[in-house]
Formats: sequence, C-alpha cells, structure tokens
Amino acid sequence: MTNFLPLIEKFHSLQGEGFHTGKSAFFIRLAGCNVGCSWCDTKHSWNQKNYPLIPIEKIVNEIKKARKKGASFLVITGGEPLHHNLDNLCQIINKETSRGGMDPIKIHIETSGVNKISGNYDWITLSPKRHSPPQHLFFREL
Ligand code: SF4
Repeated sequence: MTNFLPLIEKFHSLQGEGFHTGKSAFFIRLAGCNVGCSWCDTKHSWNQKNYPLIPIEKIVNEIKKARKKGASFLVITGGEPLHHNLDNLCQIINKETSRGGMDPIKIHIETSGVNKISGNYDWITLSPKRHSPPQHLFFREL
C-alpha cells in the first residue's frame, strides 16, 4: 500500500486542454517518469528522488480545501503518475470527499498508459507514445 507520494506541485487552475477545457480543477503533479520522451516539457519530473514524499492524507486535505474553493474535479498528472500505485490515494479521496452525503470529487488522470491502472477514475486522458506503447489491458479500461 502506498502511503506517501513524491509531489512536485499542486495548484488550482482552469483545465487548459481537452474536453474539460475551461473548468475549475485542482492539479497534483507526481514525480517520476522513465518513459523518456525526447520532446518532454517536464523533464524536471523524471527523477522522483528530487521531490519530497508527502503523506497521502496531507495531499487529500489540499484536495478538500480546493473543492471548497470551487474545484469541480481533481487532475492527477506527472511525470507518469501510474508509475505509482494509486489505489490508496483514490480510496482515501473517495472516502474523505464524500463525507456528509456529498458525491466524491471526480478524479481525472493524465497518463501514457505504460503501467497497469491502479486507482479508480472518472476520466482518463491517455497520451500514448510510439516508443513506449500503452499496455493492451489499458484499452479495455477506456
Ligand atoms: S510520458 Fe510525459 S512526463 Fe514522461 S517523458 Fe513522456 S512527456 Fe515527459
């Protein structure tokens, strides 16, 4: 079970691309990526050892605060966030954001699909790479 995750940054903004463009969202960017795209614009994310391991509960508290300020969903990005097992993160998010009868906050993820899916998502943005294609199993989840 993963209780700590390497966090590069968190921010509340408008989704800037895709179907949900313009919607208020809270982003968490997890460190670590070994996909090695030559065009990568977040190479600083590759080495997760450069970032602190943050307790999941602390990350979830930030998500709850952002929701109170109007974030309509969470976006988990990276790096390649699915290098990490996100089962525990998603379980705690669902539990903590559904207290008082609320619907849990929707969870989106941005991934290259090179790893198995862990966690549960309302929206998956798959960004496949020719040199490191997504797992076949991944397409069945979409
Ligand atoms: S998968 Fe994303 S973060 Fe990783 S190297 Fe490619 S573009 Fe960069």
